[in-house]
Amino acid sequence: MRPRRRRVTALPAPATDEARRVGLAAEDDLELVLDDLRAWVDLDTPGASSELLDAFARTFAARLERFGMTVELVSDPAGLYVHAVLEGNGRAHVCLLGHHDTVFPEGTASARPFRIEGDRCHGPGVADMKGGLAVAAHAMRLLAGGPRPFSRLELVSVPDEEARDGGPATGERLLGCDAVLCLECGRPGGEIVSARKGARWFRLDAQGRPAHAGEAPHAGRNAAHALAREALRLAELHGARPGLTLQITGLAAGEGLNIVPSTGSLTADVRAWTHDDLDWALGAALSLEEHEGIELRHQDLGGPPPFERTAAVATLAETAIALGGLLGHAFGETGAGGVSDGSWTASRGIPTLDGLGPIGGEDHTPLEYAEVGSFAPRCGVVAGLVAAVDAGLLADLPPGDATSG
Ligand SMILES: [Zn+2]
Repeated sequence: MRPRRRRVTALPAPATDEARRVGLAAEDDLELVLDDLRAWVDLDTPGASSELLDAFARTFAARLERFGMTVELVSDPAGLYVHAVLEGNGRAHVCLLGHHDTVFPEGTASARPFRIEGDRCHGPGVADMKGGLAVAAHAMRLLAGGPRPFSRLELVSVPDEEARDGGPATGERLLGCDAVLCLECGRPGGEIVSARKGARWFRLDAQGRPAHAGEAPHAGRNAAHALAREALRLAELHGARPGLTLQITGLAAGEGLNIVPSTGSLTADVRAWTHDDLDWALGAALSLEEHEGIELRHQDLGGPPPFERTAAVATLAETAIALGGLLGHAFGETGAGGVSDGSWTASRGIPTLDGLGPIGGEDHTPLEYAEVGSFAPRCGVVAGLVAAVDAGLLADLPPGDATSG
């Protein structure tokens, strides 16, 4: 399906002005940006350690206050949520979304602290996603020193993105935003993220009847045979629509070498670009066949919603790419199979764009990196997007109008 989108033939002047101004200023201040990043990477913030997460939130908040933002720390069992606000002179309410938890345990930062080698910086969470926080914080600092083309610009950093099911605790506050710019890192080729697959997990439990496998197989009802047939039927759904994946992720049955299995279970992971495709796949997956003497029960294990590439998302992406071109920072867009908090805001109908943090990769591994040269232009792109939204970029686009699969 060809995406329908508004052609971004001319960028609004305030957007190009702010992108250039902020991009150049961030280039001049690159050392300051990297010093902050060093300080933030060198603080361990393992998920679920609310003491360390709160210490980070307070340090981060103090820095944002120095930049002129009004900061609120919102208590949650997972840790403090940081909401930092700048008031402006325009109309738009834009959120820059990030997280300060990482997947690394306490002690990682002292074992391998922030370091720069050539044109890459390293350290736990440097790309996922303290690098994104550095871009957001400094884009806002520099936007604060200009004409402020927004009514309310809000940096939100959550303490529990890596492990949480469902949306962020303060997510309701974002529902009135005109746009959410999520600062997970750009892909290794620089691409921003304009779609993320939604996932659903489910489990099938089979109940049959045990019997001696040699003496009385006819008296048994074989749960393994039924689940195996269902597994093969389900596997046919993989690829049935563009981007749709279905993988059997678990299959177990049997009570002993010589017993007809009376119980068993199967789990599956289903992913798709759109709500429509996900619903269709689940409907087809759960149209179970009859297996004589076997009872099959289904359990929905939930999963994150799709971040669809709506017309508004496509327009944001095209604008970001044009702004990057203006700054000599060429990149494209892509979709991702994994989720972020941008999946939650997008699924609530808020025009969302992701991957706006520095270019990086190898997330969740010791090889994680972010490209030094990408911080300043990303600040410029973010600033330009804020100004573009304020200039009415998304004004007559329905946020919920899905355009691609
Ligand atoms: Zn992340």
